[in-house]
Amino acid sequence: MKLTLAEPRGFCSGVNRAINILEDVVRNEKERAYVYHEIVHNAWVVRDFQRRGVVFVESLDDVPDGALLLFSAHGVSPQIRAEAAARKIRAIDATCPLVHRIHQQVRDYADAGYRVIFIGKRGHDEVVGTLGEAPDATTLVSSLDEIASLPDFPPTQRMTYLTQTTLSVSQAAKIVDALRERYPQLEDPNVEGICYATQQRQDVVRRLAPQHDLTIVVGSVNSSNSKRLADVSREVGVPAYLVDGVEDLPWEALKPDSAVLITAGASAPESVFQTCVQFLRDV
Ligand code: SF4
Repeated sequence: MKLTLAEPRGFCSGVNRAINILEDVVRNEKERAYVYHEIVHNAWVVRDFQRRGVVFVESLDDVPDGALLLFSAHGVSPQIRAEAAARKIRAIDATCPLVHRIHQQVRDYADAGYRVIFIGKRGHDEVVGTLGEAPDATTLVSSLDEIASLPDFPPTQRMTYLTQTTLSVSQAAKIVDALRERYPQLEDPNVEGICYATQQRQDVVRRLAPQHDLTIVVGSVNSSNSKRLADVSREVGVPAYLVDGVEDLPWEALKPDSAVLITAGASAPESVFQTCVQFLRDV
């Protein structure tokens, strides 16, 4: 089997930072640590911290008053910060700075009177947090199909768009093109929404996948950037498999002479990636 290991792959700076912040808390704080949502979207990372006593919650109702709480790499809305402060919860912010940057942009555009079309997956933690920055000034769109049913805005309404950090570059570009047709006054934003780590990992798959029979993406099913890597491979006509670990490797699709590209999403640990590589090499 010919195996190509994609570079760059795996942990990005924001994921590293969030995991290091939680590591510090687990090592140095005596009290139990709570985390609002998964610290990063990876089952291995979450299970490891759970074994060490960390409690992951989906609601502040599950956090006692005055407890120690981390906000995950995906960020939270101002409403969650305010509620935590009111209940004297000791909050530590592990939000990726690139997510913070998008939050700031939403606030700035809203303050300047813009309508912001936010392109992102409905219900994703990052999207919920970002829309919470200016709920009255933002409109969410999750797919091309939804554009026709978006509200009409007067031609005098200043408009721009921003995106979730982990979208498919090509899919987002198609949505932006369609938005421009629907709203001719749409202005390009001041910052790129899709982050450097997402773009780099997608670029590598787009370039290398066509020389392979299939692509394996190491990452969890709820990891947006991992799913987008598989999408990119399929877009260029190469079947892709998203695997959380060796137990998911697609043995039925692998042949002794297969050419396989293997990569990892931005929240997938290198140790899990290397275990998958070892299994494939041992075939
Ligand atoms: S994928 Fe991008 S935005 Fe998300 S944590 Fe990593 S660097 Fe930050």
